[in-house]
Amino acid sequence: MTHPAQPKASHFINGEYVEDTAGTPIPVIYAATGEQIATVHAATPAIVEQALSTAKAAQKAWAKMTGTERGRILRRAADIMRTRNRDLSVLETYDTGKPLQETLVADATSGADALEYFGGLAGSLTGEHIPMGEDWVYTVREALGLCVGIGAWNYPTQIACWKGAPALACGNSMVFKPSETTPLCALKVAEILHEAGLPAGVFNVVQGMGEVGGALVTDPRVDKVSLTGSVPTGKKVYAAAAAGMKHVTMELGGKSPLIIFDDADVENAVGGAINGNFYSSGQVCSNGTRVFVQKGIKEKFLARLAERTGAAVLGDPQDEATNFGPMVTENQMNIVLGYVEKGKAEGARLICGGNRADLPGFFIQPTVFADVTDDMTIAREEIFGPVMSVLDFDTEEEVIARANDTEFGLSAGVFTNDFSRAHRVIGQLEAGSCFINSYNDAPVEAPFGGVKASGVGRENSKEAIKHFSQVKSVYVRMGDVEAAF
Ligand code: NAD
Repeated sequence: MTHPAQPKASHFINGEYVEDTAGTPIPVIYAATGEQIATVHAATPAIVEQALSTAKAAQKAWAKMTGTERGRILRRAADIMRTRNRDLSVLETYDTGKPLQETLVADATSGADALEYFGGLAGSLTGEHIPMGEDWVYTVREALGLCVGIGAWNYPTQIACWKGAPALACGNSMVFKPSETTPLCALKVAEILHEAGLPAGVFNVVQGMGEVGGALVTDPRVDKVSLTGSVPTGKKVYAAAAAGMKHVTMELGGKSPLIIFDDADVENAVGGAINGNFYSSGQVCSNGTRVFVQKGIKEKFLARLAERTGAAVLGDPQDEATNFGPMVTENQMNIVLGYVEKGKAEGARLICGGNRADLPGFFIQPTVFADVTDDMTIAREEIFGPVMSVLDFDTEEEVIARANDTEFGLSAGVFTNDFSRAHRVIGQLEAGSCFINSYNDAPVEAPFGGVKASGVGRENSKEAIKHFSQVKSVYVRMGDVEAAF
């Protein structure tokens, strides 16, 4: 019997599901059991061509609609997503393995927020009038044209919406390629947008590995590439886009610091560290995986952290009582277990976890290492799994220097009850998305993105509009033209 997660076809192009079984089969494995639940096929060159030419052709008419009309469609799609939240969450759980307890509140709901927010902004995208004496200049905020979105596997619905909603609000069309690991959810986003009235061809989904991503990025018809992925992929995609002078947004990896001062509320700090390391089983780019704890509070913090981490419920992710799911793939599980072994070998003190869980599927116990030093592998490299490193510090000055000593710069957090210190420290941390007495909040109203190797550009908020549009200026002369000859 066909599993309910199996999509009607692999791709969604020009307003309908499209199949080409000549493409390499991509198995979809349910991370909680290891069983294959669906198959899609990577896009063949013919499918890539169909998606790009359709999106290119559809964009001009879409941009000519008023912003209010475009926005109405996006907001209608948001409503449909909310109505179907449970079904979409169940699918997200099959696609990623994340527990339903999370997906019910973090995925389709966050996608719907993006559609609603950018739908609301679409009618207010205007230029300026700049007086120049008798003459004047006016500016027009224009769409970029055809945009490509490429997603990572941790938030397949959210990533499709975070890229699609602002792109479409500005009058662009999009070809979106989900991660080959989680190909299912973006198809539902495309289906819902079309049900909400989106003209055919404006938002298309094609499947495939890096090769298909590469074909999209290098096509001369493409004006912008927005990638969510790792730093090595980001460097390749950025370079390929530069060769065609295309706009880019790069949402990449991190190894973010979370700094806890002696005067912090311990329960809140432990809660922040749990949210910043174990949500989605640690598969979150902005996670605060280097937890710097001031020496005076260290043992109290570790004791409560171990106690509360022990309350994690691992198990069937479709059971709403489960709050901690598996790694997305067996390969990812093995990579993370490799880092755990490195942590042990390099002398970090294991506080809890540290092993594969005794369950079917790709579960790793939530793991905490203490006495981690700056030079250890687990403190330097992005692990993208449930492995928290706790490091000690003495002074504010010292911790700022150590927190910034990394190639990454996605996020940073500070827990303290001294508000001047909180703002002083955050002001000096080299990171794009920061938190005070909290961690990992990502509402659509707030800009999201990194500095240094963690990325270029911003998603969400009004900032995203700037990255999916450009400004044309028009000088208007009222009098005669003076010329030298
Ligand atoms: P990845 O870099 O392996 O793949 C990301 C996407 O890029 C996939 O769709 C992949 O098929 C595609 N791709 C790979 N090579 C390509 C190429 N040469 N040209 C075009 N496309 C190519 O990342 P992943 O393993 O799927 O995701 C995990 C990484 O993503 C982590 O580093 C994580 O930090 C990062 N991430 C960042 C954010 C953010 O917003 N900053 C969010 C989620 C994940």
